[in-house]
Amino acid sequence: MSISVNPQTKPLLGCIADDFTGATDLANMLVREGMRTVQTIGIPECAPTDVDAIVVALKSRTIPATEAVAESLAALAWLQQQGCQQFFFKYCSTFDSTAAGNIGQVTDALLAALGADFTIACPVFPETGRTLYRGHLFIQNQLLNESGMQNHPLTPMTDANLVRVLQQQTSGKVGLVGYPVVAQGAEAIQTEIAALRQQGVRMAIVDALENADLYAIGAACAGLPLVTGGSGIALGLPGNFIRAGLLNPSENAPANTLPAVEGWSAVLAGSASLATNGQVAHWKENHPAFRIDALAVARGEPVVANALAFASQHLATQASLIYATTTSDEVKQVQATLGVERAGALIEDTLAEIARGLFALGVRRFVIAGGETSGAVVQALNVKALRIGKQIDPGVPATTSIGETPVALALKSGNFGAVDFFEKALRQLGDAR
Ligand code: ADP
Repeated sequence: MSISVNPQTKPLLGCIADDFTGATDLANMLVREGMRTVQTIGIPECAPTDVDAIVVALKSRTIPATEAVAESLAALAWLQQQGCQQFFFKYCSTFDSTAAGNIGQVTDALLAALGADFTIACPVFPETGRTLYRGHLFIQNQLLNESGMQNHPLTPMTDANLVRVLQQQTSGKVGLVGYPVVAQGAEAIQTEIAALRQQGVRMAIVDALENADLYAIGAACAGLPLVTGGSGIALGLPGNFIRAGLLNPSENAPANTLPAVEGWSAVLAGSASLATNGQVAHWKENHPAFRIDALAVARGEPVVANALAFASQHLATQASLIYATTTSDEVKQVQATLGVERAGALIEDTLAEIARGLFALGVRRFVIAGGETSGAVVQALNVKALRIGKQIDPGVPATTSIGETPVALALKSGNFGAVDFFEKALRQLGDAR
C-alpha cells in the first residue's frame, strides 16, 4: 500500500484540472502513489491542511480560451499561495481541445506566470488504452481521429498528430520527445529536453507506451516548474518528492485514509449509460429502489416527496437507490417530449433536491452515478472540497467532503464501475450492512 507523511506543512504538488471527473481521476492516481490529496471545486475559501497534493477542479475544457486562461491563472496563484512547489495542468487523455484551445493557451499562460520556458505535454494513460508513438495518439488499436473522437460534439479530434494539434493552439514552438529516446529512460529524456530547449522548443509532446515510460518521464521532469498531461503522467511525479526527501513513506499514515462518517446511506443514479443500467438492474435484484419518471416531474407530481418517503422507510435497515436511469430508447422518447436540455435539467434538479432532503434526514453517505449528476449533487450539498481515499473501481475513489458536516461520497461518471459498484462503494464508504 502507498503510504506517506509529508514532513513539510505545505502541499508539494499543485494541480489544475480542466474538468471535474478528470480531477478525481488525477487525485485517485496521486493517492495511489502515496500523496495525501484534496480535490477542490474551483478555488475554495479555506486552505486544506495535512495534504501533499491539491487538485483544483475547473470546468474550463470547452469555455472560451480567454476565460480558461483567466480561471487557470487564478487557480495557479491560489496554489502558489498554499506553498506548492511544482504545478501540473491536467487535461483529458484524448487531448480534448480545438484549434481555439484550450490546452496550448492555458499551458502558455501558466508557463509565463511561472517564469518558465519549457514543459512537456503527455496525455498517455496505458491503463485506459491511450498510448503515443512518434507524436501520434492511439486509443486502444485506433488512431485518435478514427476512434470515434472525430465525432465528439464539442471537441472533435480529427488529427492524431498531437505536435500539429498543439501547434495550432500556441505561438510557442512545439517539439517531440520520440519513443526511441523515451525507451532509454530518464537520463536520455532529460538530455533530449535540454536539446529541445536549446532549439527554442517551448512545449514537447512526449511518446509513451507503458507505465514504465511514464515513471521515466516523471523522473525526468523533477526540475520542471510545470508538467502537463493526462492523469497517467502523474504516476511518475510523487517519486520525485520521495527521492528529494520531501515525502516520506510511513506505516502510520496511509495516503488514502479518510475520516469516518456516521449516518445513513443512499444511492442516486442520473446516468443512462450502459454500465449504470447494469448496476441499477443488479442492485434491484436484492435492494429497495425508487424510479424517477421525468414526465411525472414535468407534470408537477410530488416526485421528490415520494422518493424521500420511500427512502425514509428503509433508512434504518438498508440504503435505497433512487434512479432516473433507463434505456437509451426511453431517454430519447422523454427528450422528444420535453426537449434534451429540459429533460436533463429536470432530472438533475430533482436528484439534487432529493440529495438535500436525504441529507436533512441524516444521510451522510452518498453513491452517485453520472458525471453531470455528480456535479449537481455536490453543488446541492454545498461541497467545496473532497479528501480522496482508496480506489473503489478504476478511476473512482472513495472521498469525504471537507467542512462542518462531512459526507462520504463516491462519484462515478456513467460508464465507470463494475456491475456491483453500488454495493462495493457503500461498503467502502463505511456502510457495513
Ligand atoms: P453520464 O456520466 O452517464 O454522462 P450524466 O449525469 O453526466 O451521466 O448525464 C446523464 C443525462 O442522462 C442526464 O443529464 C439526463 O439528461 C439523461 N437522463 C438520465 N435519465 C433520464 C431519463 N429517465 N429521462 C431523460 N433523460 C435522462
